[in-house]
Amino acid sequence: MKAAFLTGPQKIEIRDVPEPDVPEGGLVLAVKACGICGSDLRRWKEGPPAGSGGVTPGHEASGVVVAVDVRCTRFNVGDRLAIAPDVHCGKCYYCRRERYNLCDHLQFLGITPGFPGGFAERMALTPEILENGVVNPMPEGLGFAHAALSEPCCSVLATHDRAGTGQGDTVVILGAGPIGCLHVAVAKMHSARTIVTECSERRRELAARFDPDLIVDAACEDVVARVREFTKGLGADIVICANPVAETQRQGVDMVRKGGKVLLFGGLPKASPMTTLDGNKIHYGEIEVLGTFSYHPRVHRRALDLLADGTLPADKIITHQFPLGQIADAYRMAAAGDALKVLICFEKE
Ligand SMILES: [Zn+2]
Ligand SMILES: [Zn+2]
Repeated sequence: MKAAFLTGPQKIEIRDVPEPDVPEGGLVLAVKACGICGSDLRRWKEGPPAGSGGVTPGHEASGVVVAVDVRCTRFNVGDRLAIAPDVHCGKCYYCRRERYNLCDHLQFLGITPGFPGGFAERMALTPEILENGVVNPMPEGLGFAHAALSEPCCSVLATHDRAGTGQGDTVVILGAGPIGCLHVAVAKMHSARTIVTECSERRRELAARFDPDLIVDAACEDVVARVREFTKGLGADIVICANPVAETQRQGVDMVRKGGKVLLFGGLPKASPMTTLDGNKIHYGEIEVLGTFSYHPRVHRRALDLLADGTLPADKIITHQFPLGQIADAYRMAAAGDALKVLICFEKE
């Protein structure tokens, strides 16, 4: 079968490899669609960990079960499944309290060595992945390409759960990549007013598809002043930092109202993770600065349902689809910043 391997910085190649055996107690999935994530792009830019011999990336996958071991009773051949990357240990302090996304021993499909991802024709799902990972049947009527969006939708949905986004809230989203646009869609689903800020003109055009109440050019305009103006001086109820830029976290504290919430959604570059925030604004204004990462596995089922019933506009998020053989072009397209979600699709549906 064909599988993609990340072999060096900005180097991804297709190799012929043997099809995976059916794992004891597990199954084999024929992958139908798999999205390129911002984190995939980060690893593509850096290259794989030294000595790993190349890793098959991809963790936003959907497909159909083609082989099942007799000891696996949960799934059958022909089942259509969507998967997400996190595999928790089930034993640590956090897992015992059902805070699975904070597990001390999280492993990730398409990232952790020994857990090959979805940019391959076939993927083996071991009992460990089936039990402690995120694997769910696709609702009827949901296509594979749309199902592959369930993973990025999960982290966005979980962020708004944490923010308590509600009717009439003004939510500012800093960054209009695929994730920023999903934040606009989910905030609107909660009947919030939305402001999105973005430096790239192309991305501001793409963000307009999601009909936010205000789009601010972060390159030329004073974003804090524009948010204050829009909220008649009050400030935003909720600010979501959806890009890997420390400066936007500082701006978030400056544009949120007293008692509001700033959510740090995007990670900062590993080499420079420090950020500077106005401690007095946080103190006197009782501002909540919250980290948000990944999600509880049950959010994945909700994401699939919201994609199936059209609440989340999958067609507006997916801007490009490539076959596996053109994965290098697909990565370059996703990295150029002119696209929203770029998918690898294995056949026409
Ligand atoms: Zn992802
Ligand atoms: Zn754990």
